[in-house]
Amino acid sequence: MIPFLDLRPAYAELKEGIDAAMLRVAASGWYVLGAEVAAFEQEFAAYCEAKHCIGLGNGLEALELVLRAWDIGAGDEVIVPSSTYIATWLAVSATGARPVPVEPDLRTANLDPELVAAAITPRTRAILPVHLYGQPADMDPIMELAQRHDLKVLEDVAQAQGARYKGRRTGTLAHAGAFSFFPTKNIGALGDAGAVTTDDDRLADRLRTLRNYGSKVKYVNIEPGVNSRLDELQAAILRVKLPALDVWNDRRRALAARYLERLPGIPGIEAPHVPQWADPVWHLFTVRCRDRARVTAALDAAKIGWLIHYPIPPHLQQAYESLGIKRGALPLAERIADSILSLPIGPHMLGAHVDAVIDVLRQAASPSS
Ligand SMILES: *Cc1c(COP(=O)(O)O)cnc(C)c1O
Repeated sequence: MIPFLDLRPAYAELKEGIDAAMLRVAASGWYVLGAEVAAFEQEFAAYCEAKHCIGLGNGLEALELVLRAWDIGAGDEVIVPSSTYIATWLAVSATGARPVPVEPDLRTANLDPELVAAAITPRTRAILPVHLYGQPADMDPIMELAQRHDLKVLEDVAQAQGARYKGRRTGTLAHAGAFSFFPTKNIGALGDAGAVTTDDDRLADRLRTLRNYGSKVKYVNIEPGVNSRLDELQAAILRVKLPALDVWNDRRRALAARYLERLPGIPGIEAPHVPQWADPVWHLFTVRCRDRARVTAALDAAKIGWLIHYPIPPHLQQAYESLGIKRGALPLAERIADSILSLPIGPHMLGAHVDAVIDVLRQAASPSS
């Protein structure tokens, strides 16, 4: 039995530190926007090699608040990947702006910069690339386009904490980066949490106001803000986990390398492509299958966990019916949804488990042998 991802070993490895952090916060008598959040913000900014980090309630609100801080709203367009978790789109619609989907490069599943250029209109205000599955998107051509058309660029870094693009950390490659610390992410809280990284002093200041009812000074509200604060308990837990992030990402890299070494030659299974400038952190290890139903049946029979990220692309969700984007309109996103398969990976999975998964894939590909 190999679970898709078990979060308990992560807690077990750091139990002493996490327990102490939780008790420290409980005893402090101060639970929202205090010393733990301030310390985590400094430590995470340093880790990301960014000037500022602003702790927020979750990843969706981190994305949304940056767009709002840029005064993006009704009548505006924001370019998003056609193949992503729906949160990327929801952040745009929450501001009143329209998500404009652009198809990916099929080999990496990330935004294709050439197609981004074709989607820019006079209403376009921002581009929202996602570093999907932990693999950095090709940011240089996107930033060039943005500069030429005077657009903002927000990275969705929910799946790529610690990844690098041409040596630079994700979250510092654009005007801002939005992070989620949902429990299953590469660094996860024991609940919901999120953050934004940026080098922009004004944006950082605006986000600190927006997250706290539009208030900088208690009971003085300068704009209609929201309540989206990282809490002290989650910040204290994230501070214990942050020093483990690179170690855990290295373990993911070793497992991914093992998959990548053994996958070639298995018919009907396409391994992920890693461009030479990318240093991914393997939030997910995804393959594309010719006959996915057969592969998942074999994994089920062997009691090996798997998931599909994601089975329905945002444009085909009922939630986005009103956009009127028909099936067939975004064929690459649909092809990914129909063929993608996530295999088990995580900081506490064993190399031998990769070999067991590979054996099942090989048998499923040629059942007679
Ligand atoms: C997890 C995730 C989010 C949303 O994060 P939450 O903290 O769950 O709100 C946004 N974008 C992507 C790509 C994600 O994987």
